[in-house]
Amino acid sequence: MPNCPRCGSSQVIKNGYIHNGKPKFACQACQRQFVENPEWRPISAETKALIDKLLLERVLLAGIGRVTGVSGQWLQDYVNAKYKAQPQVTDVPAQKNGS
Ligand SMILES: [Zn+2]
Repeated sequence: MPNCPRCGSSQVIKNGYIHNGKPKFACQACQRQFVENPEWRPISAETKALIDKLLLERVLLAGIGRVTGVSGQWLQDYVNAKYKAQPQVTDVPAQKNGS
């Protein structure tokens, strides 16, 4: 679900479809209706790899944004999705029996 392009809220609900079949969204915070951000550009695999590296170096998101040119909002979503996909295992010892 995209965030609201006007207020940045994530309280966005699906609100039907527009004529070309694209889903339409409505922001519950500011009532704005919108289709998925037309300025949204897919981030290249190279950029993502760079972001991953910078994250490992504990570079602040604002710094990563400046280096890679992606928006802070996108970075936040990316990091959120990343941590959701990978449960926190940072402090688990690398050694494991049988593998
Ligand atoms: Zn909004």
